[in-house]
Amino acid sequence: AAKASGRHRIVLFDESMDTRVRDAILIDEALRTAIGANEFRLVFQPIVDAHSGEWVKAEALIRWNSGRLGVVQPDRFIPVAEENGMIVEIGNWVLIEACRTVRSWIDASGRELKVAVNVSALQLLDRRFLDNVDSALKASSLPPRLLELEITERVLIDDENAVSTVIAALKARGISFALDDFGTGYSALSYLHRFPLDTLKIDRGFIFSLEQSPSRQALVRSIVAMAGALSMKTVAEGVETEAQAGLLREAGCSYMQGYLYAKPLERSAILAALSAERPA
Ligand code: C2E
Ligand code: MG
Ligand code: MG
Ligand code: MG
Repeated sequence: AAKASGRHRIVLFDESMDTRVRDAILIDEALRTAIGANEFRLVFQPIVDAHSGEWVKAEALIRWNSGRLGVVQPDRFIPVAEENGMIVEIGNWVLIEACRTVRSWIDASGRELKVAVNVSALQLLDRRFLDNVDSALKASSLPPRLLELEITERVLIDDENAVSTVIAALKARGISFALDDFGTGYSALSYLHRFPLDTLKIDRGFIFSLEQSPSRQALVRSIVAMAGALSMKTVAEGVETEAQAGLLREAGCSYMQGYLYAKPLERSAILAALSAERPA
């Protein structure tokens, strides 16, 4: 009912209304003007080679400083944007901005870096998605092999045929795919071989206190072995300690991402680091 009354709706809060619902309504309102008011920006977190420590990719992560609500974390507003459909427009903004940014780093530093962009289920299944990806690549003249799309298990169980078609079309262009937050979702492994995914990102939940948990270590070793058997690379998310990194290297994990290596950085900080390194 609140939705139907549109722009001039009046929302009455009462004590019984769950704070999360109230929160979602405020976020929903503020999101509608966020792109126009230039309230979003991207930060980028390096993903490094597990052995050489070299930066191989950077994951684009959205940040929102709302004029009305202040800084709102993605874990709070992305679900609202997925609910009200705005994720399609926001996701497209992210795609354009991420491609443009990585292009500018390459031009300025002479070093290549791949960019990883998070894509929600609704966005991937939107009929404009392929065109939007093509436009973002064209506008930035970024080679498709430098773009990786991160999807979650949630996407794969959505509409299998539609999802397969979109993934196949993008793979044919040279774009790669990573499965994000692996191990948190539906624990159905059967879909893994049905989709041509390149990389498996082991969820932070497995990495957290890895050094204290032999059972998590066993799980991580099995995940890495399974990914290898399916010709997939692995990224460990949320690596915070040397001990974790050591265990992950021993398990054969290909890449690492986490505060131990770098926090999400402003684009200027990434460029400064790329420029400071000796050319390969
Ligand atoms: P994600 O894609 O799994 O991103 C990883 C999250 O873990 C990021 O949180 C990152 O800042 C955080 N992180 C990285 N290393 C560490 C670490 O060592 N320790 C800890 N404790 N955390 C670490 P962030 O930026 O708050 O993003 C949260 C989630 O929001 C993302 O999870 C992703 O699902 C979603 N998200 C962010 N940007 C976008 C976007 O542009 N589009 C879509 N659809 N979703 C996005
Ligand atoms: Mg991600
Ligand atoms: Mg993740
Ligand atoms: Mg996550």
